[in-house]
Amino acid sequence: MRSNLQRNAGRHRKVTAAQTAKGRVAIFTVAAGAVSGAGATGVAAAQVQDNADGGPSTKAQSVNFTLAANSSPLDRFNQDLSNAVDAANTAIADAAFAAPQILALAEEKPVINLQEQLHKAIEASTARAAADMAARAPQISRPAEGAFTSPFGPRWGTFHYGVDIANAPGTPILAVMDGTVVDSGPASGYGNWIRIKHDDGSLSLYGHMQSLDVAVGQRVTAGQKIAGMGSLGFSTGSHLHFEIHPDGTTPADPAAWLAEHGINL
Ligand SMILES: [Zn+2]
Repeated sequence: MRSNLQRNAGRHRKVTAAQTAKGRVAIFTVAAGAVSGAGATGVAAAQVQDNADGGPSTKAQSVNFTLAANSSPLDRFNQDLSNAVDAANTAIADAAFAAPQILALAEEKPVINLQEQLHKAIEASTARAAADMAARAPQISRPAEGAFTSPFGPRWGTFHYGVDIANAPGTPILAVMDGTVVDSGPASGYGNWIRIKHDDGSLSLYGHMQSLDVAVGQRVTAGQKIAGMGSLGFSTGSHLHFEIHPDGTTPADPAAWLAEHGINL
């Protein structure tokens, strides 16, 4: 008898421990129902025992296990109790399986998941922000196709404030960024020039063109053809002289500026 109770109690603890991994709250809830079921079975068994002993009482009360030690009805009761515990354990397992919303209340594991979820959320947010910034960043176009023939820097005893890109006359000259045309026409040394003021405050300059496709005040977009390549002004052959003034006034190395935007001359 005593060993049966211990075995049953041990079995119950064993299953409870296994379920604890899924959710402590779920166990408490279902275990309460399991105890009620076991109690009802115990009451029924107690009534059977009373009848077998010929006792007058049929009152449903708690069972006194020591009174009928080693008796046959007690063996049946023990079997009934064992079956009830087995059924309760099965009910616990089924209920835990069928009630995932209860498992959400478990305390420990979600804390770990929360770290992971926060980390993933931050990563996703960062990626979205980067994509958003990339979408907002000004579109940059190569000003012309051709041979990179002369860099930014000292040249011929003076300073070359731009880069030269050589190609056939009429080769399309393209606006490097969205902006507004502030100059389009003859200019000393350049033959013709076009200057475009960009939305970020920078200014781009194009020289020596043989044809001009845009007028002062005109809005242009990155990659739009604004002129045809030529050799007007101080030039020894058909090429584009291109300058970039990031702050609007001071020339910087266009090759480096383009490279920053993924364009290599
Ligand atoms: Zn030049």
